[in-house]
Amino acid sequence: MIVVMKHGATEAMIQKMVERVESLGLKAHVIVGTERTVIAAVGDDRDQGKESLETCEEVEQVVPILAPYKIASRETKPEPSIVRVRDLAMGGGNIGIIAGPCSVESEEQILLSAQQVKAAGATALRGGAFKPRTSPYAFQGLKELGLQYLAAARDATGLAIVTEVMTPQHVEMVAKYADVLQIGARNMQNYHLLQAVGEIRKPVLLKRGPSATMEEFLLAAEYILDQGNQEVILCERGVRTFETHTRFTLPLASVPYLHERTHLPVIIDPSHGTGIASLVPSMSAAAVAAGADGLIIEVHPDPKKALSDGKQSLTPEAFAATMATCRRVADALGYVLS
Ligand code: PEP
Ligand code: MN
Repeated sequence: MIVVMKHGATEAMIQKMVERVESLGLKAHVIVGTERTVIAAVGDDRDQGKESLETCEEVEQVVPILAPYKIASRETKPEPSIVRVRDLAMGGGNIGIIAGPCSVESEEQILLSAQQVKAAGATALRGGAFKPRTSPYAFQGLKELGLQYLAAARDATGLAIVTEVMTPQHVEMVAKYADVLQIGARNMQNYHLLQAVGEIRKPVLLKRGPSATMEEFLLAAEYILDQGNQEVILCERGVRTFETHTRFTLPLASVPYLHERTHLPVIIDPSHGTGIASLVPSMSAAAVAAGADGLIIEVHPDPKKALSDGKQSLTPEAFAATMATCRRVADALGYVLS
């Protein structure tokens, strides 16, 4: 249920209502909107207590939330959520660009990548220190040393750092260095990991599992939100189909579809979505045209020498050209690509 508070409801009134909701055995999530404050009362409610809540003077109305993903739903919060960290802003007409190599390979490589993507206009640096690789014999990442190199690249450039966390035991360590924690596609339904990142207070970039439905994707986001972390960014990175000409099949319709159902920012990963560098510029521009709140793009100083995902990584020059095109599309549509 959503408890919609009256205009001008005070802190004390909101707190009293939270206690009332909790006394019904439900969890209360306070969502402060631009228009008014609502309290999402979630749990196994079966509308119990709806009437008793409705009779409270400070309550405007109590409405059921029809979607199974209660906090993520637009029904709970009609206006878009904006995630901001350092110069990165995503949502509500702001487009954030996260760029960098698939993996952190050395201090020099990540620093050079940071300088190159920043020069082209990116607002955040990506780079995996813990890598989920299909083969156990492939490069697994530099682990904590990689996180330290990322932090050094942030100190040098000011870019926000986006990096993957693969296990609940590492959440605290990764959060010490990262500005945004990425949950990889393979871990979208690792519920303990989702709960662990729900407990921290840093934005989480949640990638769609390659065979997850939209409902499963939104319910995965709900696991994070339900722990109290309201800063979740959804990332469409392509799904597995019968098709083999691209690494995955990238459904850009996910952007407007998700925007209809959730207030969370939605971004596109055209690198994993196609697996082919030459396709990335067009899909980036198309994603911006589709209303994406951001892009996460793999860029490597020398893609041929990359330790992972070189085939889908842009050169710094190709990335700069892609940024320029995306900026023109964003300008034409009235979005802010910062
Ligand atoms: C990555 O971002 O490098 C990555 C492994 O992505 P995904 O989880 O989408 O495969
Ligand atoms: Mn990659």
